[in-house]
Amino acid sequence: MIWTRRGDTAAPPPRRAAGAADRGETLFISDLHLAPGRPETIRLFLEFLGGRARRARHLYILGDLFDAWIGDDDDSAPYQAIRAGLRGLTSVGIGCTLLPGNRDFLLGRAFCRDTGCTLGRDPTLTRFAGVPTLLMHGDLLCTADLDYQRFRRRVRNPLVKRLFLWKSLAARRALAEDYRRQSGTAKTDKSAAIMDADPGAVTDYLTRFRAIHLIHGHTHRPADHTLAHQGQAARRTVLAEWHPDRGEVLVHCDGTWNREAILPGGAGQHGTACA
Ligand code: MN
Repeated sequence: MIWTRRGDTAAPPPRRAAGAADRGETLFISDLHLAPGRPETIRLFLEFLGGRARRARHLYILGDLFDAWIGDDDDSAPYQAIRAGLRGLTSVGIGCTLLPGNRDFLLGRAFCRDTGCTLGRDPTLTRFAGVPTLLMHGDLLCTADLDYQRFRRRVRNPLVKRLFLWKSLAARRALAEDYRRQSGTAKTDKSAAIMDADPGAVTDYLTRFRAIHLIHGHTHRPADHTLAHQGQAARRTVLAEWHPDRGEVLVHCDGTWNREAILPGGAGQHGTACA
């Protein structure tokens, strides 16, 4: 059983996410992997925040908004622009919940204070049109990747995080760059199956949280899966990663779910007729 693993036992009981609502549109995105070297994707995201996202009631970012987050004190110009974009969205009353991804789990309180976003737990249980729905980044589902799960437990240790954040920005940048190179090499050695969500892990999380819908990103394999779960039809919705010329948003409105493309210049964005 995946949740009895060391490091995972401190998880609190399921709770409702703040800002979850059954009325109005809720948007879900993940895996934008924003970085100073990806100005087009940043521009696409800023356009989304100033445009399409303004028609929603709540935005969930299910992890890996950033390709690497080395601490809330990183004030590089692109990050300042992203902070301002998120602040612009929340300042008009649209909620924004951020779940930590494997690349940006160091997002913290200062970032939330600057942007008006709320940090959510991974996983977060909520309801949409009455359906118990579990939101995750998705890396916890890749249980066959034992090396990664070991690494994850190590770097999420509060003491390890604090030691890292004590280092200078320059030192942290260098360490993040090392990690990025290593994880790139490791990925090419791993089979596709190992890096996908494990079906047993999916079932375990649905059971543990009594959910019948799971929404996650991380794997970059967007799909709408249906599965039999304890005599019910359960669903697993996998979000798409963003590219310089195309993002994607999952939209919930009154019990219906749609995917919408986010294109440069706002082309192709229609929205639903949601009160
Ligand atoms: Mn990820």
